[in-house]
Amino acid sequence: MKTYRIAAIPGDGIGKEVVPAGKRVLEAIGALSGDFTFEFEDFAWGGDYYRRHGVMMPADGLNEIRNKDAILFGSAGDPHIPDHITLWGLRLKICQGFDQYANVRPTRILPGIDGPLKRCAPKDLDWVIVRENSEGEYAGVGGRAHQGHPIEVATDVSMMTRAGVERILRFAFRIAQSRPRKLLTVITKSNAQRHAMVMWDEIALEVSKEFPDVTWDKELVDAATARMVNRPATLDTLVATNLHADILSDLAAALAGSLGIAPTANLDPERRYPSMFEPIHGSAFDIMGKGLANPIGTFWSVVMMLEHLGEMSAARTLMNAIESVTADPALHTADLGGKASTVQVTEAVCAFVAQAPAVVTKAV
Ligand code: ATP
Repeated sequence: MKTYRIAAIPGDGIGKEVVPAGKRVLEAIGALSGDFTFEFEDFAWGGDYYRRHGVMMPADGLNEIRNKDAILFGSAGDPHIPDHITLWGLRLKICQGFDQYANVRPTRILPGIDGPLKRCAPKDLDWVIVRENSEGEYAGVGGRAHQGHPIEVATDVSMMTRAGVERILRFAFRIAQSRPRKLLTVITKSNAQRHAMVMWDEIALEVSKEFPDVTWDKELVDAATARMVNRPATLDTLVATNLHADILSDLAAALAGSLGIAPTANLDPERRYPSMFEPIHGSAFDIMGKGLANPIGTFWSVVMMLEHLGEMSAARTLMNAIESVTADPALHTADLGGKASTVQVTEAVCAFVAQAPAVVTKAV
């Protein structure tokens, strides 16, 4: 029997509620398969760790998780600790340390979910946003000088490398090629950002030649927001820089019904390091500890983890279970206008998994 070794990092706030729920559904999937199982190791890193140790995770923390098959992450954020410390001290440390350069964010309106767009049928919104996850605006290049003086200066330099742009665009073209419509929109801002984004556009053209079967276009990031709202069906796969995709994917999550549903994968496509799977929502301290957190974003992230592990049949089984649960308004959490608790949704998904036909290991 194959054992997948998973690092579980709940982090802060509702991360401590949704990650245990994610582990529970992974166990249910493992029990159904009979061919593979999961061995979890928990890492209590995050805000509480920071209060005790002055850092979000130990200095050699990456070594503790380096040999895992995957990482299940909750959220990092604490109202009493500056956001740049929680973000850079944990999540970005893992993403950058393990060169998880491709951030993948699928968006669909799941059955039973009422999205905010009046004229958008569920079939009109089926996107995958690919976010450059290792450099660009969040490269961490910059600094501050003259602090506290009237001449204080601060810079955040967006740094793009040819290698970094090439690999994310090639990855995005591959994702587009794997989807039925074979359609890619390259998000840019080369009208105003006239150096790095012009290089980005040039490389998009170069890489596109390797994918003659993919239809692609370019869209300015500001125009893309309007297109997502007004003409969602014209989009399929999108690729954008770190900052642009960060913003577009929150919009996408909202258009699909709730931040609580949206999943993401931080991938090292070359598999040199473990990849990390997490809901896109943050720590949501306002609802923490009340059993209100929607675990669906975490479950969908678990589907992405199963796909990454090659367990395609198990991934489909879990996605079907998730969609059966969202289709029933009695199983909606408060963010979707319902009354169900995190535990009720989790148990319902596990029950659907348990009823599914046995999953076939590694079936494609
Ligand atoms: P952070 O500072 O860690 O990014 P945040 O609380 O500022 O977190 P989010 O957690 O991303 O921001 O979400 C904003 C709001 O959306 C939350 O305050 C919460 O009310 C709601 N929300 C987010 N995720 C969920 C969820 N899984 N279930 C229910 N409501 C959610």
